[in-house]
Amino acid sequence: MIQFTEEQLAVRTMVRDLARKAIAPRARAWDEHGQFPDELRRLLTAHDLFVMCLPEDVGGLGFDLTTQCLVLEEIAKADGAAAVTLQDQGTSSHFLLNACTPEQRRTLVPQIRARQLLVAFCLSEPGSGSDAGGLQTRAVREGDEYVLRGQKTWVTNGGPAEWYIVLALTDPDKRTRGGISAFLVDRDAPGVQLGPPMKKMGLRASATVDLFLEDVRVSAARRLGAEGQGFAYVMKTFEASRPQVATLGLGLAEGAYDYALGYAKERHAFGKPIAEFQAIQFMLADMATQIEAARLLVYQAAQMFDAGAPDLTYYASLAKLFATDAAMRVTTDAVQILGGAGYVNEHPVERMMRDAKVTQIFEGTNQIQRVIIARHILG
Ligand SMILES: Cc1cc2nc3c(=O)[nH]c(=O)nc-3n(C[C@H](O)[C@H](O)[C@H](O)COP(=O)(O)OP(=O)(O)OC[C@H]3O[C@@H](n4cnc5c(N)ncnc54)[C@H](O)[C@@H]3O)c2cc1C
Repeated sequence: MIQFTEEQLAVRTMVRDLARKAIAPRARAWDEHGQFPDELRRLLTAHDLFVMCLPEDVGGLGFDLTTQCLVLEEIAKADGAAAVTLQDQGTSSHFLLNACTPEQRRTLVPQIRARQLLVAFCLSEPGSGSDAGGLQTRAVREGDEYVLRGQKTWVTNGGPAEWYIVLALTDPDKRTRGGISAFLVDRDAPGVQLGPPMKKMGLRASATVDLFLEDVRVSAARRLGAEGQGFAYVMKTFEASRPQVATLGLGLAEGAYDYALGYAKERHAFGKPIAEFQAIQFMLADMATQIEAARLLVYQAAQMFDAGAPDLTYYASLAKLFATDAAMRVTTDAVQILGGAGYVNEHPVERMMRDAKVTQIFEGTNQIQRVIIARHILG
């Protein structure tokens, strides 16, 4: 059985209340509007949640990964787009903690809280997603600076974010074996351009853009960590960010299940509540089973991370794969339980189903998670 501390449960109660009162009632309008809501940023900032992944000594809330996942689960139950906005800041925060030198940790990281910054994470490119090491963006050293040139895509929080963590080739011959480095790029730096928000199937209130870098000069002091270690920092970051994305799946599944369960008790057909039909009962039973199994894998991965256990990549992949596949199945069944009503946006389950799809794709597709799991098993 997964157990939580009193402190973790208190945070969950606080965020559950926030999600129910301030996020769930706005989720449909945010989705319809299809733009990053400033209102959401203000709300999450007011509760310091954008710095929940940072330790207290650099201005953060100092939540462990288990608590971070509890927060994301509650928000994802209410709104997937709000949850991914927060989760992406989590990927960037964990990356900075893995990469920054002691000096950068002291000077750069505290600015996130002090200046209320959003930090986007830019690994993917038009020609390289799963094959992340195939990136083409170049960073060439010139004196005390690097000159960056290339294109990043699928940048979550792109636009609202003031800072961009950019992975670029510093040694094309070495690539993932010491040839990729990370840089902190300002949105307002000369040569930086952002594309228009992408029109997505789901997570419509989350900003996603292309990032164009045309001879952008970045001080060597803003190369994050050691030259050539960028890819290693990314892999380490996934140990935390994949359980977080798994939690998005878990929360979406729970949100859809709760709604479908309530609907099944109220909706009548053939003179009785549809919950009395075994076909509906079995769907609900399968949904509950998927959710409970996902919860165990998610919090196992998070608690192992917090305990500094070995093989975190493997456990993070198990959680990400199962919880996000469960999210797709459960949200799809929730739409089915609502019948025609499930197909229109008067009810939240169609939005949850659209939002769930991408959890199987980003932070490493679920095919890639299977590759990682199989590699671990077979050696
Ligand atoms: C809404 C959204 C937000 C995102 N946010 C970010 C972000 O903030 N930062 C960022 O860097 N990236 C982000 N991404 C990018 C995301 O991580 C990639 O989309 C993902 O890694 C897959 O890459 P791809 O889209 O290029 O697909 P491809 O790599 O082209 O894959 C296409 C298909 O081939 C399969 N495939 C590829 N290689 C293998 C293999 N070896 N074995 C088996 N199957 C394989 C894949 O599973 C997939 O089904 C985001 C994506 C989306 C859709």
